[in-house]
Amino acid sequence: MKNFTESLPGFRKLVAGNVILPGETDYDESRAIWNGMFDKKPALIVRCTSTEDISQSVLFARKNQLQIAVKGGGHNSAGNAVCDDGIVIDLSLMQDVQVNAGTQTARVEGGCLLGKVDELTQEHGLAVSAGIISHTGAGGLTLGGGFGWISRKYGLTIDNLLSVELVTAEGKVVTASATENEDLFWAVRGGGGNFGIVSSFEFQAANIGTEVYTGPLVKRFEDAADYFRFYRDYVRTMPDEMTIWSVLRYAPPLPFIPEEYHGKMVLLIPFVWLGDQAEGEKLLQPIRDKGETIGDGSGMKPWTGWQAAFDGLVEHGARNYWKSHHLKNLSDECIEAILSSAARLPHGESEVFIPHMEGAPSRIDPVSTAFPHRNTPFLLNIHTRWRDAADDDRCILWAKEFHDATRPFSQGVYVNFLSEEGNSRVKEAYTDEVWSRLVECKRKWDPENVFRMNQNIAP
Ligand SMILES: Cc1cc2nc3c(=O)[nH]c(=O)nc-3n(C[C@H](O)[C@H](O)[C@H](O)COP(=O)(O)OP(=O)(O)OC[C@H]3O[C@@H](n4cnc5c(N)ncnc54)[C@H](O)[C@@H]3O)c2cc1C
Repeated sequence: MKNFTESLPGFRKLVAGNVILPGETDYDESRAIWNGMFDKKPALIVRCTSTEDISQSVLFARKNQLQIAVKGGGHNSAGNAVCDDGIVIDLSLMQDVQVNAGTQTARVEGGCLLGKVDELTQEHGLAVSAGIISHTGAGGLTLGGGFGWISRKYGLTIDNLLSVELVTAEGKVVTASATENEDLFWAVRGGGGNFGIVSSFEFQAANIGTEVYTGPLVKRFEDAADYFRFYRDYVRTMPDEMTIWSVLRYAPPLPFIPEEYHGKMVLLIPFVWLGDQAEGEKLLQPIRDKGETIGDGSGMKPWTGWQAAFDGLVEHGARNYWKSHHLKNLSDECIEAILSSAARLPHGESEVFIPHMEGAPSRIDPVSTAFPHRNTPFLLNIHTRWRDAADDDRCILWAKEFHDATRPFSQGVYVNFLSEEGNSRVKEAYTDEVWSRLVECKRKWDPENVFRMNQNIAP
């Protein structure tokens, strides 16, 4: 890093957004991210308000040999949105969403949160296939792949991406789409923030209406093994309109869960059905009937409300450590390994999260984007979450041991669920063929690895 003090006044004139130094207003707010494990102190932060600001920030960083971190929604559990000593290119003021109801498309700025995307697309009964927590950033989520409640029906977030406007490592502004800079468009659909800074995304939205039949059912933890042995086959017969996931956690004090279970380990079964309620109920009945359903929060719900329903369980600021992999199946041995680790959940806020993935994403050619693990039925996310730094070692060890115990049943990993796990682990998010293409693309678009605060694909 060079001493950039002299060039700072000139830089401030070039950008419309705020340039913030340590100690200045908004410094602490802007460097804070979702995962409270990280307390990084950048040399400066630029709160960009335009593509031009991003471009000027990249050029300034390169001239002054400053490490770049890019902050979208700041949600990534690996903490790469902020760096020590370098520059944070903070996109949090770039939250505009323009919806075209005629073409059912949405242009979304690079720092936008999912809640805003839902709010504005829902004005037209539309939704972009994306994640399940409204304070997640659309930027990082999309660049890694993106899945949620409607991805079985409509595909991953990247499968609905039409184009991006991106600032390259040289500070140039380019468009990437199926017809322009095709190699770059291929790479940003799964390759993360390695290839440039996306100032805006253009998405195809789906017409889902404004209400869906949804809700969690709740079962006793003691009945989970039996349930999973039924669920693993039954769920794979569901039409793409039905998504049924599993969450193992201590029961939150929700009104539809009997008080005697509050704070006890339970199996939550959140689902979304895109269709007529009566038809959805029929499909759900065998799930309800398998063991006793001790809580039922189902009903027709506004989409935006459902998309924020779990926000309160994963608020900003707690300490988090995630381990994850895709699961080949839920064999008896796998179920046993999951449940014996889950029974020792280290903290009341930790959870084990098992989404059912296959559907529309699995019918897309695995090498047509940089997200090749498309034929995975289930994903396991070991979401360790706690408050006190004194619990760090204990909680992290639990996650690592759980991960090791379930590794024999795994195939690959979702890049957006990786912690800091080293280069060989990043490779597991891809196949060899996709990895080689990503490296080739990195050599072309970022040969000096300017964008390396991420799950890095070194040139
Ligand atoms: C509580 C929680 C719930 C989640 N739920 C889901 C879910 O339902 N589905 C799912 O698919 N994922 C989910 N995720 C994972 C999520 O996709 C990743 O954490 C993702 O990286 C978050 O993006 P962000 O912009 O908020 O993160 P950030 O930490 O800001 O960014 C993550 C990475 O992406 C890069 N980046 C971000 N924006 C841009 C941009 N505009 N241009 C270039 N690079 C950029 C950053 O440099 C960084 O390396 C969840 C995460 C959390 C913490």
